[in-house]
Amino acid sequence: MRTTLVLWDIDHTLMVSGPAATSVYPRAFALLTGRPPTATVETAGRTERAILQELLALEGITGIAQSAADRAMVRSLRAVAKELRDHSHALPGAREALAALRAEPRVIQSLLTGNLLRNAVRKLRAVALYECVEAGIGAYGSDSAERADLVGVAQQRARHRYGAVFGPDNTVVIGDTVRDVQAARAGGARPIAVATGTYTAAELRGAGAEAVLPDLRDTDAVLAAVLGGSPPDGPQPREQRAAAPTTATPGPATGSTDTGRLP
Ligand SMILES: [Mg+2]
Repeated sequence: MRTTLVLWDIDHTLMVSGPAATSVYPRAFALLTGRPPTATVETAGRTERAILQELLALEGITGIAQSAADRAMVRSLRAVAKELRDHSHALPGAREALAALRAEPRVIQSLLTGNLLRNAVRKLRAVALYECVEAGIGAYGSDSAERADLVGVAQQRARHRYGAVFGPDNTVVIGDTVRDVQAARAGGARPIAVATGTYTAAELRGAGAEAVLPDLRDTDAVLAAVLGGSPPDGPQPREQRAAAPTTATPGPATGSTDTGRLP
């Protein structure tokens, strides 16, 4: 029996959050320093920690504890919760793709995202996608500022829960940026890309994506991309899957200061 671990990016892969999400960084900066930032930083495909760290560095701010920075980013997204709900939407096909993979006995699926855990949960709940993934075995920006590190974190959590080994041949990362693709390859996963962000299909393919989809509308194409490189399926104990907790509390592979408590 082999099980495939599918790890989804959130922003511009499963959903679009609108301006509320990008306001997190200047808001967090202001909470931490008492003034708005003047600099702007690139966000696509980066972890929330890396984005805020760069913003603070560009503004010459040092000595901010990671735990304080994390709290500021969680507070900042919570402060715009209504705008987030009002202006976010799941990308076309995302819900159907998640449902189709969830119905596959040989697939378990979670998240690999630069969002802090609590912000990831808040975003997915805003578009009613949270229940579609097993958040507790995912990896988050609260686990590491380095996206490539997150692959191993998720694999270890999935191994702890399912007792199966997850490596480059049975782990899939689906994302919209070159950084998602590079992190998947560096971390030990098969990269599948969707061109629903700022990168073209050619750029994503050039970065090493195993498959590039224009979007998630073609559920069969998503399934083929994910399962195409998977070993033959075997019986998967449904009762074990049903019993697996879906809590957002991460397993033991974390060094996070984000406690995993839900927003
Ligand atoms: Mg993304």
